Amino acid sequence: MEVTTHDLVVIGATAGGLSVAEGARRAGLEQVILLERGDSVLMPEVISRNDLQIAYGEKVQSIHYDEAADQVEVVTNRRTRRATACMIAEREYSATASAPIETPDSDRVTIDNPPVAVQGADVMVVGVTDHAVEISAQLASAGANVVLAADGLEPVRLSPIAGEMLAKLERERQATVLYRSSPNVIGERDGYPMAYFADRRTPDLEFDHIVFASSRGPADIDSLGVTPEARASNAVWVFRGAKEDIGMSGAFGPDLWPSLAGARFPDREIAQYGVRSWSRDTTLESELAEHFYNATITHFEPTHSDLWRLRVRPDHGDTSHQPGQYATLGLGYWEPRVDDANDIDIDSKWLKLIRRSYSISSPMFDEHGYLADHTAGDELEFYIVLVAPTEDNVPGLTPRLALKKPGDRVFLGSKVAGRYTLAPVVDPSRTCIFLATGTGEAPHNAMVTQLLRKGHRGPIVSAVTVRQWADLGYRAEHEDLEARYPNYHYLPLPTREPDVPKTYLQDVIRDDGFATKFGVALDPATTDVFLCGNPAMIGLPEGDPPEWPEVTGVVELLTEKGFKLDRRNDPGNVHFEEYW
Ligand SMILES: Cc1cc2nc3c(=O)[nH]c(=O)nc-3n(C[C@H](O)[C@H](O)[C@H](O)COP(=O)(O)OP(=O)(O)OC[C@H]3O[C@@H](n4cnc5c(N)ncnc54)[C@H](O)[C@@H]3O)c2cc1C
Repeated sequence: MEVTTHDLVVIGATAGGLSVAEGARRAGLEQVILLERGDSVLMPEVISRNDLQIAYGEKVQSIHYDEAADQVEVVTNRRTRRATACMIAEREYSATASAPIETPDSDRVTIDNPPVAVQGADVMVVGVTDHAVEISAQLASAGANVVLAADGLEPVRLSPIAGEMLAKLERERQATVLYRSSPNVIGERDGYPMAYFADRRTPDLEFDHIVFASSRGPADIDSLGVTPEARASNAVWVFRGAKEDIGMSGAFGPDLWPSLAGARFPDREIAQYGVRSWSRDTTLESELAEHFYNATITHFEPTHSDLWRLRVRPDHGDTSHQPGQYATLGLGYWEPRVDDANDIDIDSKWLKLIRRSYSISSPMFDEHGYLADHTAGDELEFYIVLVAPTEDNVPGLTPRLALKKPGDRVFLGSKVAGRYTLAPVVDPSRTCIFLATGTGEAPHNAMVTQLLRKGHRGPIVSAVTVRQWADLGYRAEHEDLEARYPNYHYLPLPTREPDVPKTYLQDVIRDDGFATKFGVALDPATTDVFLCGNPAMIGLPEGDPPEWPEVTGVVELLTEKGFKLDRRNDPGNVHFEEYW
């Protein structure tokens, strides 16, 4: 039988196997080959970009250790492959795996067994592991509309290629990832599975199929014919998930990898499992991060994959600010991006920080259920949306922030700033109207909470336009607030929901909507209006002499009703904060 020689043989082109193969190639191993039982691979670009060898349809029959040559011998149905080391990255399904919740007895609900003809079908995958991501990618590439219900998924626990797969699925809109929702009941309606979620964010959803991704175990060593000598040799490694422990000396996990790889390839640094950017020497970047970064992300809660509530704790401990003000967040250009856009002129900017302003938001309640106090605690909360690249703009910060998680370090500007505050509201019986687009509600959340804490008696309205219901990161808290405070009114306006008439803030002002809905009059003598977010919604007069913009904004409509824009040194009752 033909014999070929390699540095590393990786058995199984799973996301884990691909991660190991890529890490090995980047560490300088030249002869890295993947053996894949099937006839395809989910991320072919990993093969091409690393110039990897892959043998499809090659099945392992036995694995031996040749002590004299200090080599592994992998015997397959086609040939014998000798190598310095061998990684078994195939994973095993358990025949007895069951879904973590009750499921109806239906062939539309399966475990580890994705349906095949899924073009245009709605399929939900439930799971948090590499395996769940792999099944989602497989279904998406077969044309399914995939929802991955992954409550508790921690990207850092995925292998690097599974992490990349997930980012790609989201970026290319091939899957919707619910990071905080998993179904607690699966029912059936008209023969189709229905998923019910315990949280209030996620509506009940009907699917064509639901697939539970079990946590697979490591490969069955016996069925691969690994001899006892090979097992004891330290040259045969088994890929295992971060939490598994199969008690074999060659088992491979985040902690064992460096020592095993180091023993076999002492002059190479094969990157560690679970580390995302592992291709470059990152010493300089770590030093820069240490130099620039002065705060820690303590909380990172995706409302959905592109919209986050996050909290940051500054090292200096000072979080003093007025509700409505903003701070600066920053990350280095050296940080990886979630999208594959190319930063313009990246080389000259590599060692610099990207800094952007962010309004300081606020949870409305503290952990005891009382109104939150912005002077308490050692963290600042932000509410940030991922900006997508366009032909004219490659966003710098948010695609980098997208990859962050609690514990990661960031830059936080030493000063908070801004005159968009509650300073003009001295009379507790005034009407306060807060109008926002998208994340423009951030400062309003802090301001509304502060007004209520101070016992404000006048009517308070907070209205926000978003595309969909899912884009409302604070909806539940607003609704709780409304239930507790009769003078507080919340008006979310989704503009792209099929069952909701499209209403912009301009329409509400024109039609005197706050009077009809809540009995709150827009009287310039008794009202302050706060506008935040998209400059087109605000619609400031432009030019010299100033003219109203072509698309009518809220300021123009309010001016017609007798309101006056608040300018520096020329106070008024319409206050604004533009985000760009
Ligand atoms: C005072 C102030 C407070 C701000 N507060 C917030 C905040 O609380 N939350 C937040 O998400 N952003 C906020 N921004 C916007 C923020 O500073 C960044 O511009 C934004 O996060 C994009 O940064 P980037 O580097 O990814 O993209 P950039 O390269 O800076 O792209 C800028 C472009 O992104 C788009 N854009 C910017 N912000 C938004 C947004 N919020 N929603 C939709 N599209 C946007 C616009 O088209 C803009 O031209 C604020 C801006 C200012 C001036």
